[in-house]
Amino acid sequence: MQTRDYQRLDRDHHLHPFTDFKALGEEGSRIITHAEGVYIFDSEGNRILDGMAGLWCVNLGYGREELVAAATQQLRRLPYYNNFFKTTHPPAVALAERLCRLAPDHLNHAFFTGSGSEANDTVLRMVRRFWALQGKPGKQWVIARENAYHGSTVAGMSLGGMAPMHAQGGPLVPHIAHVRQPYWFGEGRDQEPEAFGRECAAAIEAKILALGEENVAAFIAEPVQGAGGAIIPPASYWPAVKAVLAKYDILLVVDEVICGFGRLGEWFGSVHYDLQPDLMPIAKGLSSGYLPIGGVLVGDRVAETLIEEGGEFFHGFTYSGHPACAAVALSNLELMEAEGVVERVRDDLGPYLARRWAELADHPLVGEARSLGLVGALELVDPASGERFPKELAVGNRCRDLCFASGLVMRSVGDTMIISPPLVIARAEIDELIDKARAALDATQAQLAGLTATVQEEPLS
Ligand SMILES: *Cc1c(COP(=O)(O)O)cnc(C)c1O
Repeated sequence: MQTRDYQRLDRDHHLHPFTDFKALGEEGSRIITHAEGVYIFDSEGNRILDGMAGLWCVNLGYGREELVAAATQQLRRLPYYNNFFKTTHPPAVALAERLCRLAPDHLNHAFFTGSGSEANDTVLRMVRRFWALQGKPGKQWVIARENAYHGSTVAGMSLGGMAPMHAQGGPLVPHIAHVRQPYWFGEGRDQEPEAFGRECAAAIEAKILALGEENVAAFIAEPVQGAGGAIIPPASYWPAVKAVLAKYDILLVVDEVICGFGRLGEWFGSVHYDLQPDLMPIAKGLSSGYLPIGGVLVGDRVAETLIEEGGEFFHGFTYSGHPACAAVALSNLELMEAEGVVERVRDDLGPYLARRWAELADHPLVGEARSLGLVGALELVDPASGERFPKELAVGNRCRDLCFASGLVMRSVGDTMIISPPLVIARAEIDELIDKARAALDATQAQLAGLTATVQEEPLS
């Protein structure tokens, strides 16, 4: 089959996630046929540097035979059995043990799911159940943040703060409230970053007081917002948030689906920011995306209550702890440990990317270049004003398309360009990423100049 055949069948029969079906049908999709290391290849023979590690997940890169072998061996031995009704299997047990060893000390239990969304559904069930067992059934409200991403199931998107998703999916799960995000470039530039960070934490306290402390179960947040635009909070933010939650005895849920497994240069974002979460939803990098698996790591306080006082917890999925997925995840974690992947991000690749990425700040279109570990963002602005371009110009999408054309996957969130490359990327490949990003920025600038030229030439009608 040729590219055009795939595109026709795709248009006729395949509804893609997060896609304008009609627009894609007209344009035709790009067909990714294979991949190796940090590169993906399309059906036209283009070799493209995957600056997003798939969707923030292919942390060990493509083509890892060890992960393929882990999957095939397990599929032969025991392709499926469940963990319901007093049964288990070796891969699920081994993975739970390994995760608890890698996680901060007070997290000693794992509940498995098939995805990050299911992990956050599990979180909602667990925190409400926990407080009911504590004799505080009124503690039902969960505070989350605007522009947060916690998945696309009904509970996941209700916890998330993505306005376009809320507009399509309602009615949402009740008793979820949202507070402002610590997005300094987007919302706080009239203040010092640290003052802005404290103000965002104070918004959580105000929300707790407005809802009533006795009604608030938990606060959920990502250490660094990923899908929202690689938003790195000011240094003042997390310490102030921790203090507020402790003051009112509110559980802290840290969504580690992106930040977990080395992305920020520690095993978990919670370690980087010293967060001591009660619950940690995980997915994505857990298996480097080779097979789907997620879960929730549960802190002692919640786990002991659920175990000692809970009786049966009426919750779980057919594929909770699926043997092949668990075997791949375990092998992924073993490889990461053996190869010192997390330490290399912390000590070498993260600082190197930070230095190279910061150089892009001298480009006229770039208002801010920020990074932490191996996640980075560029804020695109109009060089004339230093402010955002008009939305209709869709500058971020233009830049993203021009990145593809220059052989790089970089994602756009509005006019924020983001990267999250595989954690095994080499320094030379980081150099290539920077060169291609700069080429795409130049091409975007040239395209915009062309647009303004045509607009000015056209007579007003
Ligand atoms: C991707 C993501 C999810 C949802 O995970 P899925 O596996 O797509 O369901 C949840 N939280 C965060 C922070 C994510 O980035």
